[in-house]
Amino acid sequence: MIAAVFEGNGKLVLKERPSPRIAKPTDVLLKVQGVGICGTDLHILQVPPAHPATVGATLGHEFTGEVVEAGSAVSEVRPGDRVLVDPHPGCGVCEECRSGHPDRCGPLYASASAPGHCATIGIFSDGAMTSWVVVPAHALYRIDASVPPHIAALAEPLACVVSAADKLKAQPGENAVVLGGGPIGLLFASLFKASGAAKVFVSEVSAYRRKAALACGATRAVDPTKEDLAALVGREMPGGADIVVEAVGPLLPLAIELAHSSGRVLQFGHDELARPAIPVAELLRKEITIFGSFIGKFSFHKLPRLLASGVLPLEHIVSHRLPLSRVHEGIDLLRRGQAIKIVLHPETF
Ligand SMILES: [Zn+2]
Ligand SMILES: [Zn+2]
Repeated sequence: MIAAVFEGNGKLVLKERPSPRIAKPTDVLLKVQGVGICGTDLHILQVPPAHPATVGATLGHEFTGEVVEAGSAVSEVRPGDRVLVDPHPGCGVCEECRSGHPDRCGPLYASASAPGHCATIGIFSDGAMTSWVVVPAHALYRIDASVPPHIAALAEPLACVVSAADKLKAQPGENAVVLGGGPIGLLFASLFKASGAAKVFVSEVSAYRRKAALACGATRAVDPTKEDLAALVGREMPGGADIVVEAVGPLLPLAIELAHSSGRVLQFGHDELARPAIPVAELLRKEITIFGSFIGKFSFHKLPRLLASGVLPLEHIVSHRLPLSRVHEGIDLLRRGQAIKIVLHPETF
């Protein structure tokens, strides 16, 4: 099978790899039906990298597939089932998992090749930018066959967004600003709008993505290089926004500036190199609450319902569907801001 393998130093190479086999009785073999290219993949392929990954691993952590074979101890899924995959499945038995922190799962951290990192499937072990992949059964969530693969491939980023949005507790009638109009920013914008937000502004430098933001429910898409975002928010959202989502990486100071007194700010953009200077006086005077959020936890079980419901304009978020052989073209489109989410489909289906 052909796989997109990370070879270090910004290199992603399409090469022949042996098909994986079930090794443990709790393993499941999946036929990959769709895999998204994530912003984290772009960070991994940056030089120097803004996110570590195992050299030699097949990338692809946002994926969906069909069960082909299940290990002898697997009872949750059967061959033929369509499934979503949690690419960081906590073991469920370590102290962190049992105290409600599967994002800190001991065995998952111990098996990553970079210290202090969670061993995400498709970053630190072989992922789904290929035809077949082996995953543990406890990573899987069954999804109805009516949900097309390119929509089901949004499960992982959407699980992360739903998990973060749970903390913000957006109320109907509130105003929100989202910094960054990539797939994550647009998933937040569409979720806020579906939850009854009054105004949702998306700030994004790419004209292509600003257009998509409006299709996803943003009430205004702002070009921060041409418009004074702080002045605009001050005029249109007197006092500031109730909720500000930072979905870029280094913009936490701006998020604090845009927030209303008692506002909630979410740091979601993940840039390992960002060290922004925080306006401390503004933070304390406005009594702002800042949330961090990392991976999707306790939200995956809702995804089969959310994806099948049609409540979010997800067709606008998947801007391109490409064969795996065009992965480099997809990466290039994303780097130039000419795409939102790109879903790859393996050649052998
Ligand atoms: Zn991702
Ligand atoms: Zn654990």
